[in-house]
Amino acid sequence: MLMSKGWKAVVILSVFLLLLASLAGCAKTPTGESQGSQNQSAQQTPQQTAQSEKIRIGLSMDDLRLERWQRDRDYFVEKAEELGAEVLVQSANGDDQTQLSQCENLIAQGVNVLVIIPHNGDAMAPIVEEAHKSGVKVIAYDRLITNSDVDYYISFDNVKVGELQAQAIVEKVPSGNYFLMGGSPTDNNAKLLREGQMKVLQPLIDKGDIKVVGDQWVKDWLAEEALKIMENALTANKNKIDAVVASNDSTAGGAIQALAAQKLAGKVAISGQDADLAACQRVVEGTQTVTVYKPIKLIATKAAELAVAAAKNEKVETNGATNNGKIDVPSVLLTPIPVSKDNMAETVIKDGFHKLEEVYKNVPKDQWPKT
Ligand code: BGC
Repeated sequence: MLMSKGWKAVVILSVFLLLLASLAGCAKTPTGESQGSQNQSAQQTPQQTAQSEKIRIGLSMDDLRLERWQRDRDYFVEKAEELGAEVLVQSANGDDQTQLSQCENLIAQGVNVLVIIPHNGDAMAPIVEEAHKSGVKVIAYDRLITNSDVDYYISFDNVKVGELQAQAIVEKVPSGNYFLMGGSPTDNNAKLLREGQMKVLQPLIDKGDIKVVGDQWVKDWLAEEALKIMENALTANKNKIDAVVASNDSTAGGAIQALAAQKLAGKVAISGQDADLAACQRVVEGTQTVTVYKPIKLIATKAAELAVAAAKNEKVETNGATNNGKIDVPSVLLTPIPVSKDNMAETVIKDGFHKLEEVYKNVPKDQWPKT
């Protein structure tokens, strides 16, 4: 009787101790970690949850040498961070292989969406497939990724940019010898620009008003390449060139250097695009006829919004479709603005893209626009 009472006490005590142990949650896992602390780490603070759910965007850039691309990066990152995302930026310095491996790396780092400014629209096509295999959406920024299933394309209307360039030049030089300076042959934009330029030029060529005395494309849009091309064109034509349809400001800058060496800067009409500071200065000083202003803040912030929405699988507002050789890519196409001496103040300067005193720094003050 006494014994059985003792056993009862032992059993009750053991059950009690076991219960206590499991309630306290201090049983050990094989690794020695207490399950209690594991449970605790599963219950994250709201801050930790936000951190782990943070959208990660990979921004793969062709290169950062031109003024505009640094602005694109800064505005994009600023907006994406404001929307709670994190951005990993890579620049490929104009090399396809580098850009491909940087994109692979970004996918491996677990980005939710890839935003690519391709050096070569064709060469980047395989990365779209690779990204999709990992559930990563791809947005082509400014330049199209051709022959691929790229999810979205955001850019300015590049055909329109080409039209605006040629229009400004034919208004100044309605007839004469024209030199066509195309952009980088690996950039789809360069082809779209030429398409737009020819819409304006072809009827005048057909009429015999305009004679195209040369037509070259500038590798990687490099100013030093443009300089050499222009020097050769001037020599080949005994300086008899009346107008140059250049496709951006960096190539226009190179060409104008060659014209200046022949004392022709300001005498030969020439176009550009990007509203680079140096180009805006040339425009108000009279050595470049026109640039095309594409508000970078607009494209960069819209692209950041697009990237965040795409990562969340939300509906994205587009305003067009662009055929890339394989599919019609849902597109956001923004409107470019031509800028000459006459409207510099109410466009680039009014927008705060450049300061009045920077653009006009080489122009006598009495010729500055009244603001
Ligand atoms: C862009 C231009 C730029 C050029 C060279 C083009 O794809 O649309 O704005 O000047 O690349 O970087």
